[in-house]
Amino acid sequence: MIAGGLIVVGLGAGAFAQASGMAAGILKVRLGGDAAETRLVIDLDRSVSGKLISDGAVDNTVVVAFPKVGVSGDLKGAGQGVVRRWTVDNQGGGARLNIELARKAQVARRFLLPPGDGVDHYRYVIDLRATGGAVDPRVTRALGPAQSLPQDQGARRAATLIRADRPSARKVIVIDAGHGGHDPGAIGANVHEKVVTLAAAKALKARLEKTGRYTVILTRDSDRYVTLEGRVQIARRADADLFISLHADAGPESTSGASVYTLSEKGEGRVGKVLAKDDWLMNASLTGGDRGVGQILLDLSQRATKNRSAVFAEMLVSEISDVTPMLRRSHRDGNLIVLLAPDVPAVLLEMGFITSPSDEARLNTAASRARLVNSIGDAIDRWFSRDMKIASR
Ligand SMILES: [Zn+2]
Repeated sequence: MIAGGLIVVGLGAGAFAQASGMAAGILKVRLGGDAAETRLVIDLDRSVSGKLISDGAVDNTVVVAFPKVGVSGDLKGAGQGVVRRWTVDNQGGGARLNIELARKAQVARRFLLPPGDGVDHYRYVIDLRATGGAVDPRVTRALGPAQSLPQDQGARRAATLIRADRPSARKVIVIDAGHGGHDPGAIGANVHEKVVTLAAAKALKARLEKTGRYTVILTRDSDRYVTLEGRVQIARRADADLFISLHADAGPESTSGASVYTLSEKGEGRVGKVLAKDDWLMNASLTGGDRGVGQILLDLSQRATKNRSAVFAEMLVSEISDVTPMLRRSHRDGNLIVLLAPDVPAVLLEMGFITSPSDEARLNTAASRARLVNSIGDAIDRWFSRDMKIASR
């Protein structure tokens, strides 16, 4: 619950709009990388959700379907790295990408990137990681005669892509379990928001630490109250690479679904007003004598941080929407003190409505909570993956 202080000044980029027709869709397929890891970037004129039909384990052909997406003309090309060649065809009311492997490989990750950073269209990225040696072409699924393939343009273009450096240090992630102590947050029929946020925060910490790639700090690890300013301070002192605040919403019983908030640009100017109105945002000491929140705001107004938050927010939405129902407009810009840490990309996740019986049951059950937490972890993994820079081009 964010109570009344939230000012929604804009909506996400429409990244999750339904495709309405079959016109175009897939514009181009590009390849990059090498025999250890190969990336396919599918350029799209709309948001899509891809579905893995075949992972390549059986017949050395990875197949990803894009329902309700069209493809203009014949798209195919020669491969690069672990890919021998690829084709896109229309099948079953959508487009189907068939990737014939040159060597044993698995899908390391798949994700959708919204327009941004100078790119005006969507990109669906598939990373393939080699798991073994070369594959005999005779044991791959037939995509048609190899000699009929045109010289691939896409692969050549992508060959100029440079591998981003692998970060050496562990990333620092601050997970903020909303509310706590005397502040129960939103109240469901069976459980309080503060309970499920803490449970989810602890589970997410464990999920992330298992990878060995992150240092994870919780703003609270028990049922106690931490001021909002205190939460922001924790992120600042930790020099966090990512701040994620977990909450659960309140609303009419029939309203359900998760949503993700990032700091809005317009929201910044309204912080004073919000603070005055909203006790959830209490103690943020905008009036304090130190450089406090005013300075934090200045720092945070750096566009880069906001853009990075927005990219992460979109990834988060695309990951968690696989495992949990979403509010219709899932990524929102909000004006939230808890997101105001300097230079720390920050998002607030409303994991669902505690006032919705189905959401409450989902959030209050360890197994379904684990699925959600796992998908949050996937989004974080993706965001920090060494190839992000390449993909965002
Ligand atoms: Zn809350």
